[in-house]
Formats: sequence, structure tokens, C-alpha cells
Amino acid sequence: MLFRDAIQSTCGFAQAASGPFYCPADRRVYLDLAFFNELHRRFGAPGDFAQAYVLAHEVGHHVQTITGTEGQVRNLQSARPDQRNELSVRMELQADCYAGVWGHHANQSGRAASGGVELEEGDIDEALRAASAIGDDQIQKRSSGRVTPETFTHGSSEQRVSWFRRGFQRGDPNACNTFQ
Ligand SMILES: [Zn+2]
Repeated sequence: MLFRDAIQSTCGFAQAASGPFYCPADRRVYLDLAFFNELHRRFGAPGDFAQAYVLAHEVGHHVQTITGTEGQVRNLQSARPDQRNELSVRMELQADCYAGVWGHHANQSGRAASGGVELEEGDIDEALRAASAIGDDQIQKRSSGRVTPETFTHGSSEQRVSWFRRGFQRGDPNACNTFQ
């Protein structure tokens, strides 16, 4: 769901500069187009890969919903409120790893010539640092509804880069068990 300014989702009301998020209740990715403008404007780079990473990360949450991981984590969080943030970090890092798995397969030789993407190591660090930095301010502008915003502050930039890189190098979602 593409939006600008504000949108009502099954997960709650998202206001301007809400940033991208995934809503497990309706299984949709919500992309705030203003967020992508911000990504361009503040970091002065084309940011194509930053956008691709953000989208792949959100789709990663969709994968977690389909596999049941999201539901299991939500139940665990209810049972163990003290582990809420820790579990959230593991969820986010797994979505980063899944985004990396996507990157691995998108980057296979031959794809670039036919309009696919070709990534370089430097792009990955740059995009992840950008996404992480943006998240820190964006999160404070969010509405306090039931929307679960992207918790960029949960999990350091270094951790996020590390898990993305792992997925990118392995190309296998089984390499993305952040819960062990
Ligand atoms: Zn996320």
C-alpha cells in the first residue's frame, strides 16, 4: 500500500513520516512515499538500493508471518514482557537477513544485463547505515496507535549490516535463525 501523509491500516493509524511498516493483520506492506523522498534528500544519494533494502526488509516480515515466526514471537512477547525488546530485535535482524537473501538472488550474474540489480559491498553498508539513521528520527514522529513501526533503534547498525550480509552471502533463509 503506497501512501503519503497518512493512512488507516488494519494495524492502526499511521500519520505523515510514519515510515514503512508491515501489518501482519492484513498482510500488507505500507510504504510512505515521503519516507523515500527523505531518504534521497537527506543522504544526497540516488538511494536505489536503500529503497530496495527497505522493501525487501518489509517483505521479510511478510515471510515471518507466513512461516508463523511472527505469531510465535508475539505470543512469547505476551508471555514474557521482559523479553519484548530482545525478541523484537531478533525479528528485525531476521528480516534484515531475509532482505540479504533476496539481494543474493537478485544479484546473480546475468540478471543485471536483463534489467536486474547488481550490488556492490559498499552499497550494502551505505544503504543500511542510511536506513538506520533515518529510522532513529522517524520513529519519534510516529503515531502512538497500534501500528508497530519499524524499530530501527532496536539492533545496532552493525548488527543489521552483519545479518544482512550473512543473508546476502549465504542466499539461504535457513542461515537467518536469529533466535538461536
Ligand atoms: Zn522491520
